[in-house]
Amino acid sequence: MSSSRKDRRATEDYLKAIYYLAEEQDPVSTSRIAEARGTRPASVTKMVQRLDRQGLVRYRKHRGVSLTDAGLQVALSTLRRHRLTELFLAEALGLSWDEVHEHAEVLEHAINDRLEERMDAVLGYPEFDPHGDPIPAKDGTIAEINARPMASLPVGCKARVARIVDDTNSELLCYIEGLGLVPGIEVEIKQIEPFEGPITLKVDGERRVVGHKVAAMILMTLCS
Ligand SMILES: [Zn+2]
Repeated sequence: MSSSRKDRRATEDYLKAIYYLAEEQDPVSTSRIAEARGTRPASVTKMVQRLDRQGLVRYRKHRGVSLTDAGLQVALSTLRRHRLTELFLAEALGLSWDEVHEHAEVLEHAINDRLEERMDAVLGYPEFDPHGDPIPAKDGTIAEINARPMASLPVGCKARVARIVDDTNSELLCYIEGLGLVPGIEVEIKQIEPFEGPITLKVDGERRVVGHKVAAMILMTLCS
Protein backbone atom coordinates (compact mmCIF):
# COMPACT_ATOMS: atom_id res chain seq x y z
CA MET A 1 0.00 0.00 0.00
CA SER A 2 1.37 3.44 -0.88
CA SER A 3 2.01 5.75 2.04
CA SER A 4 -0.68 8.24 1.00
CA ARG A 5 -3.26 5.42 0.83
CA LYS A 6 -2.11 4.20 4.23
CA ASP A 7 -2.36 7.76 5.56
CA ARG A 8 -5.87 8.16 4.22
CA ARG A 9 -6.94 4.90 5.79
CA ALA A 10 -5.43 5.74 9.19
CA THR A 11 -6.92 9.25 9.15
CA GLU A 12 -10.40 8.03 8.25
CA ASP A 13 -10.30 5.17 10.76
CA TYR A 14 -9.25 7.50 13.58
CA LEU A 15 -11.88 10.11 12.78
CA LYS A 16 -14.56 7.41 12.59
CA ALA A 17 -13.45 5.95 15.94
CA ILE A 18 -13.50 9.41 17.57
CA TYR A 19 -16.96 10.04 16.09
CA TYR A 20 -18.32 6.85 17.70
CA LEU A 21 -16.58 7.41 21.05
CA ALA A 22 -17.77 11.04 21.22
CA GLU A 23 -21.36 9.76 21.28
CA GLU A 24 -20.59 8.49 24.78
CA GLN A 25 -18.29 11.26 25.95
CA ASP A 26 -16.87 14.35 24.25
CA PRO A 27 -13.95 15.21 24.35
CA VAL A 28 -12.63 11.67 23.93
CA SER A 29 -9.61 10.63 25.99
CA THR A 30 -6.58 9.24 24.16
CA SER A 31 -6.70 6.11 26.32
CA ARG A 32 -10.27 5.39 25.14
CA ILE A 33 -9.08 5.73 21.55
CA ALA A 34 -6.12 3.44 22.23
CA GLU A 35 -8.46 0.86 23.75
CA ALA A 36 -10.89 1.04 20.82
CA ARG A 37 -8.14 0.83 18.21
CA GLY A 38 -6.04 -1.73 20.05
CA THR A 39 -2.92 0.45 19.93
CA ARG A 40 -0.55 2.02 22.44
CA PRO A 41 -1.58 5.42 23.93
CA ALA A 42 1.75 6.88 22.75
CA SER A 43 0.94 6.20 19.08
CA VAL A 44 -2.55 7.60 19.56
CA THR A 45 -1.07 10.83 20.95
CA LYS A 46 1.22 11.13 17.95
CA MET A 47 -1.66 10.55 15.56
CA VAL A 48 -4.07 13.01 17.19
CA GLN A 49 -1.33 15.67 17.26
CA ARG A 50 -0.99 15.19 13.52
CA LEU A 51 -4.77 15.36 13.00
CA ASP A 52 -4.80 18.54 15.13
CA ARG A 53 -2.17 20.15 12.88
CA GLN A 54 -4.32 19.19 9.87
CA GLY A 55 -7.33 20.91 11.45
CA LEU A 56 -9.35 17.70 11.72
CA VAL A 57 -9.46 17.47 15.53
CA ARG A 58 -8.79 19.67 18.53
CA TYR A 59 -6.44 17.97 20.97
CA ARG A 60 -5.71 19.32 24.45
CA LYS A 61 -3.41 17.38 26.70
CA HIS A 62 -5.26 15.90 29.73
CA ARG A 63 -8.60 16.96 28.22
CA GLY A 64 -8.82 14.83 25.12
CA VAL A 65 -9.85 15.01 21.50
CA SER A 66 -12.85 16.55 19.70
CA LEU A 67 -13.65 16.52 16.01
CA THR A 68 -13.59 19.90 14.24
CA ASP A 69 -16.25 20.58 11.60
CA ALA A 70 -13.78 19.44 8.93
CA GLY A 71 -13.03 16.25 10.89
CA LEU A 72 -16.71 15.55 11.42
CA GLN A 73 -17.27 15.86 7.67
CA VAL A 74 -14.58 13.25 6.95
CA ALA A 75 -15.97 10.91 9.64
CA LEU A 76 -19.51 11.16 8.24
CA SER A 77 -18.33 10.72 4.66
CA THR A 78 -16.41 7.58 5.67
CA LEU A 79 -19.45 6.29 7.52
CA ARG A 80 -21.60 7.01 4.45
CA ARG A 81 -19.24 5.04 2.23
CA HIS A 82 -19.03 2.21 4.76
CA ARG A 83 -22.80 1.82 5.03
CA LEU A 84 -23.44 2.28 1.31
CA THR A 85 -20.80 -0.36 0.59
CA GLU A 86 -22.39 -2.77 3.07
CA LEU A 87 -25.75 -2.38 1.37
CA PHE A 88 -24.22 -2.63 -2.09
CA LEU A 89 -22.42 -5.86 -1.18
CA ALA A 90 -25.63 -7.30 0.27
CA GLU A 91 -28.11 -6.13 -2.39
CA ALA A 92 -26.07 -6.10 -5.58
CA LEU A 93 -23.59 -8.89 -4.88
CA GLY A 94 -25.71 -11.07 -2.61
CA LEU A 95 -23.31 -11.24 0.34
CA SER A 96 -24.93 -12.06 3.69
CA TRP A 97 -25.33 -9.31 6.29
CA ASP A 98 -22.79 -10.91 8.62
CA GLU A 99 -19.93 -10.69 6.08
CA VAL A 100 -20.42 -7.22 4.60
CA HIS A 101 -18.91 -5.22 7.48
CA GLU A 102 -15.45 -6.74 7.18
CA HIS A 103 -15.24 -5.94 3.45
CA ALA A 104 -16.68 -2.46 3.94
CA GLU A 105 -13.97 -1.68 6.50
CA VAL A 106 -11.42 -1.98 3.69
CA LEU A 107 -13.42 -0.69 0.71
CA GLU A 108 -14.68 2.48 2.43
CA HIS A 109 -11.18 3.95 2.09
CA ALA A 110 -10.87 3.18 -1.61
CA ILE A 111 -14.12 4.70 -2.85
CA ASN A 112 -14.17 8.07 -4.60
CA ASP A 113 -17.06 10.50 -5.20
CA ARG A 114 -17.97 8.98 -8.56
CA LEU A 115 -18.21 5.43 -7.22
CA GLU A 116 -20.13 6.63 -4.18
CA GLU A 117 -22.66 8.42 -6.41
CA ARG A 118 -23.12 5.36 -8.63
CA MET A 119 -23.66 3.00 -5.70
CA ASP A 120 -26.13 5.44 -4.19
CA ALA A 121 -28.08 5.71 -7.46
CA VAL A 122 -28.06 1.96 -8.21
CA LEU A 123 -29.37 1.27 -4.70
CA GLY A 124 -32.14 3.88 -5.11
CA TYR A 125 -30.74 6.45 -2.64
CA PRO A 126 -31.16 4.25 0.44
CA GLU A 127 -31.47 5.58 3.98
CA PHE A 128 -30.37 2.51 5.94
CA ASP A 129 -27.67 -0.17 5.73
CA PRO A 130 -28.41 -3.91 6.14
CA HIS A 131 -28.08 -3.65 9.94
CA GLY A 132 -30.57 -0.77 10.13
CA ASP A 133 -27.92 1.92 10.67
CA PRO A 134 -28.78 5.23 9.02
CA ILE A 135 -26.62 6.17 6.01
CA PRO A 136 -25.46 9.80 6.38
CA ALA A 137 -26.63 11.95 3.46
CA LYS A 138 -24.17 13.62 1.09
CA ASP A 139 -24.53 16.91 3.03
CA GLY A 140 -23.62 15.15 6.30
CA THR A 141 -27.12 15.02 7.78
CA ILE A 142 -27.98 11.73 9.45
CA ALA A 143 -31.41 10.38 10.36
CA GLU A 144 -32.15 10.00 14.06
CA ILE A 145 -34.01 6.82 14.79
CA ASN A 146 -36.07 6.69 17.92
CA ALA A 147 -35.36 3.06 18.73
CA ARG A 148 -35.07 1.40 22.13
CA PRO A 149 -33.74 -1.92 23.42
CA MET A 150 -36.13 -4.84 23.19
CA ALA A 151 -36.13 -5.46 26.95
CA SER A 152 -37.46 -1.95 27.65
CA LEU A 153 -40.67 -2.51 25.67
CA PRO A 154 -44.01 -3.14 27.38
CA VAL A 155 -45.32 -6.71 27.30
CA GLY A 156 -48.10 -7.15 24.75
CA CYS A 157 -46.90 -4.42 22.41
CA LYS A 158 -46.09 -4.77 18.75
CA ALA A 159 -42.77 -3.40 17.62
CA ARG A 160 -40.51 -3.46 14.61
CA VAL A 161 -36.81 -4.39 14.53
CA ALA A 162 -35.00 -1.14 13.70
CA ARG A 163 -31.32 -1.72 14.15
CA ILE A 164 -28.70 -4.21 15.30
CA VAL A 165 -26.24 -2.41 17.57
CA ASP A 166 -23.14 -4.44 16.75
CA ASP A 167 -22.50 -4.91 13.02
CA THR A 168 -19.00 -6.34 13.62
CA ASN A 169 -19.98 -9.61 15.34
CA SER A 170 -20.81 -12.00 12.50
CA GLU A 171 -21.70 -14.93 14.79
CA LEU A 172 -24.23 -12.76 16.58
CA LEU A 173 -25.65 -11.51 13.27
CA CYS A 174 -26.07 -15.09 12.01
CA TYR A 175 -27.85 -16.02 15.20
CA ILE A 176 -30.17 -13.01 15.04
CA GLU A 177 -30.95 -13.72 11.39
CA GLY A 178 -31.75 -17.34 12.31
CA LEU A 179 -34.34 -16.00 14.75
CA GLY A 180 -35.84 -13.97 11.91
CA LEU A 181 -35.15 -10.68 13.68
CA VAL A 182 -33.93 -8.61 10.73
CA PRO A 183 -34.66 -4.87 10.42
CA GLY A 184 -38.22 -4.16 9.33
CA ILE A 185 -39.73 -7.32 10.86
CA GLU A 186 -42.69 -6.83 13.17
CA VAL A 187 -42.77 -8.78 16.43
CA GLU A 188 -45.09 -9.04 19.40
CA ILE A 189 -43.59 -9.03 22.88
CA LYS A 190 -45.28 -11.89 24.75
CA GLN A 191 -43.33 -12.08 27.98
CA ILE A 192 -40.29 -10.52 29.65
CA GLU A 193 -38.82 -12.41 32.60
CA PRO A 194 -37.39 -10.27 35.42
CA PHE A 195 -33.73 -10.24 36.52
CA GLU A 196 -32.48 -10.17 32.96
CA GLY A 197 -34.31 -13.36 32.14
CA PRO A 198 -35.40 -14.40 28.66
CA ILE A 199 -37.86 -12.55 26.44
CA THR A 200 -40.56 -14.42 24.56
CA LEU A 201 -41.65 -13.03 21.21
CA LYS A 202 -43.97 -13.85 18.40
CA VAL A 203 -42.16 -13.48 15.07
CA ASP A 204 -43.97 -14.38 11.86
CA GLY A 205 -46.50 -16.47 13.79
CA GLU A 206 -43.78 -18.42 15.63
CA ARG A 207 -42.77 -18.20 19.27
CA ARG A 208 -39.15 -17.27 19.83
CA VAL A 209 -37.15 -16.94 23.02
CA VAL A 210 -34.29 -14.44 23.16
CA GLY A 211 -31.74 -14.04 25.95
CA HIS A 212 -31.15 -10.60 27.48
CA LYS A 213 -27.66 -10.20 26.05
CA VAL A 214 -28.90 -10.74 22.51
CA ALA A 215 -32.00 -8.61 23.14
CA ALA A 216 -29.76 -5.73 24.22
CA MET A 217 -28.25 -5.72 20.72
CA ILE A 218 -31.63 -5.35 19.03
CA LEU A 219 -33.20 -1.89 18.94
CA MET A 220 -36.91 -1.63 18.23
CA THR A 221 -39.49 0.99 17.31
CA LEU A 222 -43.02 0.69 18.66
CA CYS A 223 -45.74 0.11 16.10
CA SER A 224 -48.59 2.57 16.49
ZN1 LIG B 1 -20.34 -1.99 9.31
